[in-house]
Amino acid sequence: MPTLSHVPVGALSVERFGSVLPPADYERFLRTVQWGRENFDGRVVWNVNSTAQGGGVAEMLVSLLAYARGAGIDARWVVIGGNADFFVLTKRIHNFLHGSPGDGGDLDEDERRVFDEVTERNAAEFRELIQPEDVVIIHDPQPAGLIPAIRDIGCPIVWRCHVGLDQPHPLARRAWRFLIPYVRDADAYVFSRRAFAWEGLDKEAAIIPPSIDAFSPKNQELDVDRVRSILTAAGLNDGDATGSPTFTNLDGSPGRVDRPAQRWERRQLRPSDRVVVQVSRWDSLKDPIGVIRGFAQHVAPVVPDAHLVYAGPAVESVTDDPEGGEVLSRAIAEYEAMPDEVAERVHLVALPMDDVQENAAIVNALQRRADVVVQKSLAEGFGLTVAEAMWKARPVVASRIGGIQDQIVDGTTGILLDDPLDLAAYGTAVRSLLDDPARAEAMGREANQRVRQRFLGTRTLIQAIELYEQSIRGEAHEGPGAD
Ligand code: UDP
Repeated sequence: MPTLSHVPVGALSVERFGSVLPPADYERFLRTVQWGRENFDGRVVWNVNSTAQGGGVAEMLVSLLAYARGAGIDARWVVIGGNADFFVLTKRIHNFLHGSPGDGGDLDEDERRVFDEVTERNAAEFRELIQPEDVVIIHDPQPAGLIPAIRDIGCPIVWRCHVGLDQPHPLARRAWRFLIPYVRDADAYVFSRRAFAWEGLDKEAAIIPPSIDAFSPKNQELDVDRVRSILTAAGLNDGDATGSPTFTNLDGSPGRVDRPAQRWERRQLRPSDRVVVQVSRWDSLKDPIGVIRGFAQHVAPVVPDAHLVYAGPAVESVTDDPEGGEVLSRAIAEYEAMPDEVAERVHLVALPMDDVQENAAIVNALQRRADVVVQKSLAEGFGLTVAEAMWKARPVVASRIGGIQDQIVDGTTGILLDDPLDLAAYGTAVRSLLDDPARAEAMGREANQRVRQRFLGTRTLIQAIELYEQSIRGEAHEGPGAD
């Protein structure tokens, strides 16, 4: 069974944020990182999660840790290893935390044994790495067992939970009962929204919403030619492209899209097609079947030039997500059962994951190519894909759940769907934007401003540095970034 692995973290200059932040915010940001550098001198800030690629947490850590290192903070990243039983179990926990039964299995003594055995192996290695003056940030349930296992070393431990539900649910409570014996030993808890904080935790939770990196391959500016070239290189576009399918890697080095995506489609996209896009892992809580069926029933018959692209990662690539293959197969079955005239307008895409930055550049191009971006999830911690699309000034139609509600102001920076299962309402919302490009464009502009103000990584870094500093001191403390 594989155990801990180290994820290489780059170092990025924080000075580039001068170009996207208002001067006062930029000043505050620089003050905080400088103060962090001084306070964390000699300490390692360890981040532990369960995958180096795929999903929102990995996406955020890549950038945030690189900026922290660029600012002189020794931030490091390790990923726990586990066996198949462990990841089936942690996926079940993940589903329960979202109020979904997942594979229908239990969370009992047998499951605890599986969890503890994997934890023990990872803990034995992790203990060799950490020093009492370090700070340890444990992300999400999978590595939560490490918290009591390293407690005696004496370093501050922060548990950051990125998932949650707006209303407590009996299944979520079962997951909490399973996890609380581990997480209660943490010195601080972090949730993405106030509503996500669990019952039965003995300390007040800090709230740090996720964020995106404006300069990463996922979000960097790409002009129309570049978008076309990247989509052509990935096999998604019909015809030739004149430009080169290049982008800038996170470390500033040049990158190029070379690998084609795997596609299930009758034909490729053409320039005259208008495109509705959802990008998500192959997870039933992202409701791929609903997205496809709702489009087929309520958009395709009415808007003749509309096409749906549903894109996710190549399924074998996301190690902590054993359901991916099955969910993709169900989406393919849905697609194959469609009548030709609808199937011709639907494109299922599995994006290459051999190089995560290449993957990110294709996602970037797809989001920029979209006339409307959809995130019709049934449960969502935050929904980074929403912020990513909003940053690109796309109008987004998304479910009124979880952190999506913090991002979209309904009718202004996007459209919220009250009932994510109401396919007709989803179709109506998408159509309303396709029918009124001026409104869609205005919404996109507002969306971009909202992300600029609230959901860039600089804000997360300020909050994280302040919180970790408080944990070191073991007291509430106002950092220099405080207003
Ligand atoms: N993503 C990606 N490639 C894919 C599918 C998804 O890079 O093929 C990214 C997506 O752009 C986003 C993240 O994975 O940055 C998903 O984060 P989100 O918060 O939306 O959902 P999660 O997967 O964490 O539930």
